[in-house]
Amino acid sequence: MILKRFNYIDGKISRIKNNHYYTYFEKKKLCRYPDTSISSIEKIILSANKGFHINKNLSNYQRSISFKKIINYLKKNCNQIAKYECIETGKKFENAKKEINNGIKYWIAAQKLIKNKNIFQTNKNIDIITEPIGVVLLFIPWNYPFIVLCERLPFILAAGCGVIIKPSEFAATSLDFVVKAISKSMYLKKSVNIVYGSGKKIGSYLVKSKGIDMISFTGSTDTAKKIISNSHKGCIKKLSLELGGKNPIIVNDLFEIKKNIKSIVEIIMENGGQACIGGSLIYVNSKIYKTFKEYIVKELDLFKNYQYPVRKHIRNNHYNHVNLNKIFYGKKNIKSKLNKPILVENLSSQDRINTKEIFSPLISLKKFSSIKKLISNLNKSDYGLAAYLFTQEKKQIEFFKRNIRYGRVWINSSLKNWDINSPIGGFRNSGYGQETSQIGLNNYRVFKTIVN
Ligand code: NAD
Repeated sequence: MILKRFNYIDGKISRIKNNHYYTYFEKKKLCRYPDTSISSIEKIILSANKGFHINKNLSNYQRSISFKKIINYLKKNCNQIAKYECIETGKKFENAKKEINNGIKYWIAAQKLIKNKNIFQTNKNIDIITEPIGVVLLFIPWNYPFIVLCERLPFILAAGCGVIIKPSEFAATSLDFVVKAISKSMYLKKSVNIVYGSGKKIGSYLVKSKGIDMISFTGSTDTAKKIISNSHKGCIKKLSLELGGKNPIIVNDLFEIKKNIKSIVEIIMENGGQACIGGSLIYVNSKIYKTFKEYIVKELDLFKNYQYPVRKHIRNNHYNHVNLNKIFYGKKNIKSKLNKPILVENLSSQDRINTKEIFSPLISLKKFSSIKKLISNLNKSDYGLAAYLFTQEKKQIEFFKRNIRYGRVWINSSLKNWDINSPIGGFRNSGYGQETSQIGLNNYRVFKTIVN
């Protein structure tokens, strides 16, 4: 059965007769989406503006009631959402379920922040008041449709904004549950709109439009560059950009290898190597390089949880550029239909495998001898999203903490130790702006200063 999805505009499901597009896997149709026409955009923007004013004028109590209804609906349908999340992304049910549960936790965290007053500060004759920024255009990528949405949408709504969601054209079926939850949320029912269509056509038209105050974009750095140059066309808009990464894992000593080799494999294999924060460069202290190779090869041999099918439209053509002589693990995986790991070594620093984001577990190993020099070089690289350090040396840890210019940093830790109350963001080509937590909520506010 082919799933069908519809736009949601002005608090109602909006059907169109013709013009649809489909998602596929191995020539099998998965889901049908409306290919929204440019002529309907003005109506959608008007509706989002109306939805913004409704939300802006809600009391905290009313907004909180709506959140409660949304959270209850999502909780009740958690298994179903996880089932649909798997269809286009290739995730396994257990992994999807963890993501959906975490997504719901973001709604709960944002609901707690609704209690905050909007008077920020009062000094003698000056009041500083927070205001919702207005209408937010929210772009969602294909690899984590539900959780990326939940890291942003509840905070946008808690701030009092109106929203237009433009999901990925490659994976978005689970978002239907968010629409259903919103439609049952009473007060916030009209504050969210969802519009499907290609990024190139409908996405870029929305980006240029008037009537949008802010763009919250999560996706690739290449698309972000287009958005930056198009976004000012209709009117000046605030941008918040959560982009790609080329994330280093620095391994300094044997003690931490023994303890953490499993975590290192999890970091490189997260979402089948298709995660913005997944590790793809491993820098190993030259003194232990040989031993580390033995450990990682052994651990990868034990790792059998390969589940993510290779999607042609997603895996970029970096594989064609791999020099086969440089592969020391997984040569046969190049032709696999699943995202299986491939380890390479001795590539030059300029090699595209060492510099570009690659959405597959294609991992490059390098030696280092001075951590200071390594950090200085990493800080000059294009991306600055996530970095991982495994070391026992306290001085090294302190130096790393103070000097590394990456947005999310783990030290002797694993991905599962993330706390949802922490803000997320990046440096350089990994974007700017912060999402989630009180800091993320303030991202969707402006501060108004009143002298009286
Ligand atoms: P993408 O850039 O291809 O698409 C993202 C969104 O932009 C989609 O909704 C798409 O329809 C839209 N879009 C595409 N072209 C557009 C255009 N010209 N104008 C306006 N909109 C356009 O990204 P993707 O392949 O869906 O997702 C993978 C990327 O997202 C990776 O680079 C990954 O690192 C990044 N990502 C980052 C984070 C983070 O938190 N930093 C999280 C998840 C994914």
